[in-house]
Amino acid sequence: MSTAVATIAQPKIQHTECFIDGQWRPAMSGRTFETINPATEEVICEVAEGDKADIDAAVKAARHAFDNGPWSKMDARERGKIMFRLADLIEDEIDDLAALETLDNGKPIRESRFADLPLVLDCLRYYAGYADKIHGSTIPIRGNYFTYTRREAVGVAGQIIPWNFPMLMTAWKWGPALASGCTIVMKPAEQTPLSCLRLAQLAKDAGVPDGVVNVVPGYGPTAGGSLVKHPGVDKIAFTGEHRTAQIIMRDAAESLKRLTFELGGKSPNVVLADANLEKAAQGAYVGLFLNQGQCCCAGSRVFVEKRAHDEFMDKLTKLTKNRKLGNPFSMDTEQGPQIDRAQFDKIMKYIELGNIDGAKCVSGGERFGDTGYFVQPTVFDGVTDSMAIAQDEIFGPVMSVLTFEDWDDLIQRANNTFYGLAAAVWTRDITRAHDFARRVRAGTVWVNCYDVFDAAAPFGGFKMSGHGRELGEEGLKAYTESKTVTISLDA
Ligand code: ADP
Repeated sequence: MSTAVATIAQPKIQHTECFIDGQWRPAMSGRTFETINPATEEVICEVAEGDKADIDAAVKAARHAFDNGPWSKMDARERGKIMFRLADLIEDEIDDLAALETLDNGKPIRESRFADLPLVLDCLRYYAGYADKIHGSTIPIRGNYFTYTRREAVGVAGQIIPWNFPMLMTAWKWGPALASGCTIVMKPAEQTPLSCLRLAQLAKDAGVPDGVVNVVPGYGPTAGGSLVKHPGVDKIAFTGEHRTAQIIMRDAAESLKRLTFELGGKSPNVVLADANLEKAAQGAYVGLFLNQGQCCCAGSRVFVEKRAHDEFMDKLTKLTKNRKLGNPFSMDTEQGPQIDRAQFDKIMKYIELGNIDGAKCVSGGERFGDTGYFVQPTVFDGVTDSMAIAQDEIFGPVMSVLTFEDWDDLIQRANNTFYGLAAAVWTRDITRAHDFARRVRAGTVWVNCYDVFDAAAPFGGFKMSGHGRELGEEGLKAYTESKTVTISLDA
């Protein structure tokens, strides 16, 4: 691995236990699990393996903190101030947090430091500013009554997040929950528990009262499943695979919990011949290879108008062939390892399937190096709609390029998936751009850009890509209940 450019020092591990009611505690079972550095395949440390008993203690703490305050009863402006303080504390140790994320997840340090962390701050500050602006409305009804609505916190929020953006997903979940006065039990992904645990301590340091934020590391079916089934939890916010969401929906049915889901995708990224092909190639490249292809909104089906195909491919493969893989702690590394052995094996299997199905591998297609879960940035050309690589979410650095000629046919093919998270179109034709934005069945549509995220803009999926939205006002409302109050004005 190259270390010629500035290499960032390894971070200190400060927290490996469950964070419950403001205290660090080992799992009640005494069990631990290993978290692995995906770049070296070495064990970073042992982490408490929380399960039903720990979840139960965490929910009790969160329930007590919600029912008795002070958080839920605190002046909203005061809550906002504490959230701003949390963002400031994160900013104070931004370099260490970025390094911790890179160690546990494998993403290149320049991404964790200059993409993930700024978005974490953006999200927390956006919702901190929202805390004192959550209000209902007055409604004229028939008769001599005064009717108004209140927006109240939904209660205890159970939050389950994946490993691809551990700290950012924590911020997306904590921001709206804290602003609205909810209390939290979070289950981070078993692959990447470390940064979320550090944020729990920073929340305490910022003045978040004990019991408001609880973090229980552990496995999905045990810790996660107990959280979903717990009668003391009012809402589950989940990000992960649609198959897990199906289990969660069934498990939550007993207590009819509120559910928001942000799930997978097989997003179409459409390049018309009239587009700025330089930018379109760059957009397709970033849209798929960002974060090692481990993005739910990855533009994994690239549809190129036939007459622009050769020029586009030329530009695209130049980019992929120059992509720098290696030590994620090196400042010039653009791509790190996949998260774990299971994902690595799954991706390599899809590359094999692409070859067997007759797609043409024009870039990459192999493992990179012999240590760590690195996969070369891979582009398949000549892909057809029915191939597995065009249908399944691979969640790795594997792009499928398809061509089209007819616009209506393209729209139908873009929509021919049970996913509907994101889509993009590259064109100078404003009519086509609007037509695409209107007809594509996806929660986010980018025109002449990709992966533009902002805490103010809602994000989530149509069809099996999700339920509800995160970020923006919609994301906040998902942590509130609406209460209608009607007062008779007759004396
Ligand atoms: P990924 O492929 O990103 O790991 P998963 O849906 O498997 O997607 O995991 C996302 C999160 O859901 C992780 O924190 C995982 O532990 C959790 N999880 C997995 N299975 C369950 C389950 N049955 N109930 C609740 N949470 C689960």
